[in-house]
This record gives sequence, C-alpha cells and structure tokens, in this order.
Amino acid sequence: MKKVNILGVEFDHTTNQETLNTLHQKLKMQKKTFVVTANPEIVMYALKDQEYMNILQEADHIIPDGAGIILGSKIIKQPLPERVPGVDLVKSLLKIADQDQLSVFFLGAKEMVIEKMVDNVKSDFPHLKIAGYHHGFFKDGDQTIVEMVKKANPDLVFVALGFPRQEKWIYQNLATFEKGIFMGVGGSFDILAGTVKRAPIFWRKLNLEWLYRVAQQPSRWRRLSVLPIFVKKILQNKR
Ligand code: UDP
Repeated sequence: MKKVNILGVEFDHTTNQETLNTLHQKLKMQKKTFVVTANPEIVMYALKDQEYMNILQEADHIIPDGAGIILGSKIIKQPLPERVPGVDLVKSLLKIADQDQLSVFFLGAKEMVIEKMVDNVKSDFPHLKIAGYHHGFFKDGDQTIVEMVKKANPDLVFVALGFPRQEKWIYQNLATFEKGIFMGVGGSFDILAGTVKRAPIFWRKLNLEWLYRVAQQPSRWRRLSVLPIFVKKILQNKR
C-alpha cells in the first residue's frame, strides 16, 4: 500500500472504503493487525517521545484521522484522499463483525460509559459476539486484563485509553495474542455510548468536526493549539 510520510509518521494512502476492505481481508485471514488512527496531536506527540514514535513504526496501518492530517498531506503535495475518522471505522467494523458473527473485545473509557456502550452495541449489532470488556482505569502492567483478552481470543480488540497509552498497551501485549485486529480508538466509546455527541453531517462535510467538538467540550481548546505548530513544522520540513 502507498504510504505518505508526515513528519516521520507513515500514513496509509487510503479512503474509508479501502481501509475497510483491507481490514475485512485481514479478518478473514485472521491476520494479527495493529491499527493506529492518528491526528496531528499524535504526530506532534511522537516527535517528542521516541518510544512512541518507534511504536508507531511497528503499526501495520496508520490511518489519517483528522482534517489536520489531510491539510498536512496537501502541503507536502502528496494529498491523502480523505479523512478516515476512527469512530466511523469502529462502527463499520462492528457492522462487519455483526454480518460475519465475529467476536469483539472492548477495553477503555469509564465504567459507566463502557457499560452503556456495550448495551448499545448489543442492541445495534445483535449477531456479533461480545468477547469481553473492561473499563480503562487500571494500572499499567495489569496482567489480568491481558489474560482476559488472551483467553477470549477475539477477532477485534478496540482500545480506548487515549493516546499514547492505548498504542503502548497494544504494542506491549501484541505478541501474547494469537490473532485479532487491535486498534486504538481514543474517545470513540464515549460517542458510541452517547455521552459525547458527534458533529452533524453538515459540519463534518465542511471538515469542521473539530470546531463542533471544541464547542461541546471547551477543555479541548488547549489541544487545538498543536495545529499551527504542526503546520509550521511541516512547512519548515518542506524547505
Ligand atoms: N481513558 C481511559 N483510561 C485512562 C485515560 C483515559 O480509559 O487512563 C479513556 C477516557 O475515558 C476516554 C478515552 O480514554 O474515553 C480518551 O478519549 P480522548 O477523546 O481524550 O482520546 P484521545 O484524543 O486522547 O486519544
């Protein structure tokens, strides 16, 4: 697959549909796969944390999640086709899991959120198998959760611990597992639980989902401050 390197992070040159086809193929082959959905914050963070950058280099797929990544790819004149929002990918994969009767493990978010989300998943996708779930507030290195996942041997494992923790958890434990698609999904469980709302389609089409999210959770303003720095860094690198 063609890759586009943005500040050292190699993104898949892919659309929503192509990503889904690729992952569906891997599910059919039961091929262990590590997926990262990366936005500018993740890229900027990786530049400061070499261990995290090394982990990203081990991922099988890095998906462009966020308008900032698309903008970055245009600046370096290697435009990525479109934004592939992590939460959309989660929903589409759940649909596939429902159709193919696959098993799914959910790790992360607050206890109340994950319980609500699992209820929603059960009613929206009645044919998929819930291999297990656990909230995301446990100590690093907690082996009971690793054992739970190993025993369940799920086809898909969604990890919503926020970055960099979710990718670190996946990387540290990947060798233990036999199969599965492992994907860090940030705040997706909060959306699937309905505790955080997504932007209406109109906003998303205009690539303004970030603005809507900030309006909903003003504490996110601070996080947006990486965007100008990200763009500046890409421009400097281009010269
Ligand atoms: N979270 C968690 N354990 C932690 C810290 C965070 O399970 O130790 C969860 C949190 O409840 C939320 C998600 O991880 O559901 C992080 O969401 P956010 O939108 O902040 O994701 P990011 O953009 O940081 O990846």
